[in-house]
Amino acid sequence: MSKKKRIIIIGGGAAGFFTAANLDEEKFYVTILEQNSDVLQKVKISGGGRCNVTHACFDPRELTQFYPRGNRELLSVFTKFQPGDTMDWFESRNVPLKIEKDNRIFPESDSSQSIMNALINEVRNKNFEVKNQVSVTEIIKENETYLIKTKQGDFIADIVIYTTGSSPKSLKIIENLGHKIVEQVPSLFTFNIKNNLLKDLPGTSFENAEIRIPSLKTEESGPLLITHWGLSGPAVLKISAWEARTLAKLKYQFEIEVNFISKPISDAEEELKEFKNQNPKRSIGQSKIFDVTNRFWSKILEINQINPEKQIANLSGKEMALILENLCQKKLLVTGKSTFKDEFVTAGGVDLKEVNFKNMSSKILPDFYISGEVLDIDAVTGGFNFQACWSEAWLISQHLNAL
Ligand SMILES: Cc1cc2nc3c(=O)[nH]c(=O)nc-3n(C[C@H](O)[C@H](O)[C@H](O)COP(=O)(O)OP(=O)(O)OC[C@H]3O[C@@H](n4cnc5c(N)ncnc54)[C@H](O)[C@@H]3O)c2cc1C
Repeated sequence: MSKKKRIIIIGGGAAGFFTAANLDEEKFYVTILEQNSDVLQKVKISGGGRCNVTHACFDPRELTQFYPRGNRELLSVFTKFQPGDTMDWFESRNVPLKIEKDNRIFPESDSSQSIMNALINEVRNKNFEVKNQVSVTEIIKENETYLIKTKQGDFIADIVIYTTGSSPKSLKIIENLGHKIVEQVPSLFTFNIKNNLLKDLPGTSFENAEIRIPSLKTEESGPLLITHWGLSGPAVLKISAWEARTLAKLKYQFEIEVNFISKPISDAEEELKEFKNQNPKRSIGQSKIFDVTNRFWSKILEINQINPEKQIANLSGKEMALILENLCQKKLLVTGKSTFKDEFVTAGGVDLKEVNFKNMSSKILPDFYISGEVLDIDAVTGGFNFQACWSEAWLISQHLNAL
């Protein structure tokens, strides 16, 4: 029988733990090195403490559409392990999951601790070692092995699995080994906007809005929310993720055009005219014509100095045009960004061209595997970032188990 190989997993997060949890304990000695005093800390705080563990999208091709970076590479990965497999994995370990209305999947317990416990128990049952407060500072390739240097002493590995998340310091370590790093920029952020139309209306939401960035010829739609600082909600987050690189180049200063009711301005004009014909005596302030809140409607009238008492029949053409423009083609200046619920995700990381997506091995280093947020892969919000971790980690473990 061949000698048991020593695997060192650097980083005790979602990707590192899921790899370990699926490795064959008969074949490998596995050690997880984690720099913090606790493991899985991002899983713990994820999804507001509930852990949005994956998303109910079971078609690999459709699933890749949620990844601004990595969509091409992940297709083959998801054909091997997709959200249905994630559900089976956790549910067969006594973590029942539930699919919410928007297709996000959470543990039924609504506590990320259930996810953490399943991962930790699996690793513990295999008698794998987890070393906390061990921060890797350098990796040196020796003949057949890797020397892993830490402030707490050196480790020797036959196989390294690199799952350090988005830590810039740890990207430097893998860069020093010869991997190319795509520059990191923030993804998934909200827009800072100072505009009278949004002033004093935090909490106001729109069921389906459209946001365009004319200079980039790009557009996204979805729910939209006014915040204290500007605009948030899925429509904003999606566009921030897809355009993460271009918006960083623009230093987060750009113009957007918002259609709050997701209707062509010509259709909205027709609705307004029809309402006017049928209700000529109704005051404009009291008229419920479009699907927006009363406060937002009043605000449109206020900033355009239209008297809410005015009868609709007496609205001038200019006033009608102003209302429609504010509803369907509102130009707003973005002057910065804010983090979405502390859910900072970064685009950038290890260049995907240097990774073999059949098994997540490095194309540059032998016996070296990379997965999770350390790669130049990221997704929009909804459980997709974890799904990439689970799927990539699964590939690594199955490949190694079959060696
Ligand atoms: C607040 C918040 C909420 C989120 N919620 C969700 C959600 O609900 N659903 C979802 O899909 N995604 C969510 N995300 C994104 C998700 O958490 C990440 O995509 C995921 O955790 C990445 O896992 P990872 O294992 O690659 O990296 P990490 O979870 O970051 O783990 C990497 C680990 O490596 C350790 N490490 C780094 N360098 C070294 C070193 N040199 N030596 C030793 N150890 C090292 C780190 O301390 C860390 O523990 C959220 C992110 C945040 C910040």
